[in-house]
Amino acid sequence: MTDFAATKAMFDLPEGVIYLDGNSLGPLPRAAGDRVNEMMVQEWGQMLITGWNKAGWMGLPTGLGDRIGQLIGAEPGSVVIGDTLSIKVYQAVASALELCPDRKVVLSDSGNFPSDLYMVDGLLRSLGSDYELRVVAPEDIAKNVTENVAVLMLTEVDYRSGRMHDMKALTELAHANGTITVWDLAHSAGAIPVDLAGCNADFAVGCTYKYLNGGPGAPAFIYVAPRLANRVRPALSGWLGHESPFAFDLDYRPGNGIERMRVGTPPVIQMTALSSAMDVWDMANMQDVRTKSIDLTELFIERVEATCPDLHLASPRDPERRGSQVSFRFADGYAAMQALIARGVIGDFRAPDIMRFGFTPLYVDEHDVERAVEILADIMQNRLWDTPENKVRQRVT
Ligand SMILES: *Cc1c(COP(=O)(O)O)cnc(C)c1O
Repeated sequence: MTDFAATKAMFDLPEGVIYLDGNSLGPLPRAAGDRVNEMMVQEWGQMLITGWNKAGWMGLPTGLGDRIGQLIGAEPGSVVIGDTLSIKVYQAVASALELCPDRKVVLSDSGNFPSDLYMVDGLLRSLGSDYELRVVAPEDIAKNVTENVAVLMLTEVDYRSGRMHDMKALTELAHANGTITVWDLAHSAGAIPVDLAGCNADFAVGCTYKYLNGGPGAPAFIYVAPRLANRVRPALSGWLGHESPFAFDLDYRPGNGIERMRVGTPPVIQMTALSSAMDVWDMANMQDVRTKSIDLTELFIERVEATCPDLHLASPRDPERRGSQVSFRFADGYAAMQALIARGVIGDFRAPDIMRFGFTPLYVDEHDVERAVEILADIMQNRLWDTPENKVRQRVT
């Protein structure tokens, strides 16, 4: 059994704050500050450029990739870190399209995160006007997987509502139609158990600053199934994905397996912070995390519905169909969230009317949930949100 009191003690959360936004930006692992300082002073400061070899910086992208791979059911050597998630979406879809050269359609859904859709739109425009990004309602995905779809690109857990796609069933359906899958695990990695190998997934991507707690700007990850890794052509063919970067050949030759999905110089400071976050994950079992996450979300929904009749559940009621977040609709949700944050309960707001709360068993417990709902109920019942200050929109919501 995972000791969640022990994992909670490994995070540095401000006094008095109940943090229900780890689905957007995970909190600081206590050890990260010292570890990053040590890396900067001892490694960067003293080793200078020799740190790439001596401190093993160059191996961090695949080393951390393997550690994340354990949380998402990936085979060893099939995940690498780098760039941002938007870039990894582009990279995965570009490579996937080349595996189906006679098809021109990428299928996705209207619940997907806009950046994923924007990146693919941009990619397809570069490829030519005969390519099409087809976006349908999430519930219509299955009937739109046909023999002219090259790539099915989906985010497993909807960022707004927490609704989950059935990765295994949709991957099977895609393969039966000769379609390649790209799964975005932004709200899955560290949130729910994922079994990429067991689902026979082709490509997957995700970020490390949400549930994985790698810190703001922490690099993304990409998975390529081992059966494809030596066949795919990396569209972002940077030198560190080259078979032999330090040969400085003028011709590009892709590196071995997942190494070819590397692009340029990796962010060593961010990866160091991420490695402290992964030390916490070493203490956790994903099934335990899932069980506790369901307990927390069920408790939250029950208490909010009992005390805040103006809030309407926007997430699936069935916990098996829901990720590790809960969303409620409220017309003045932005103001209500601002009032809540001012009282130390941090969630976030997604336009037009979604109040979103993330549940992260590594550092959120039942007591936090009960206390958060008490404060929310006070704000709702007494209309404490209804002030001009709470309605001023900030740059990041
Ligand atoms: C958070 C998120 C992103 C963000 O992409 P970045 O390039 O890291 O800013 C992209 N896609 C999904 C599905 C997300 O949830």
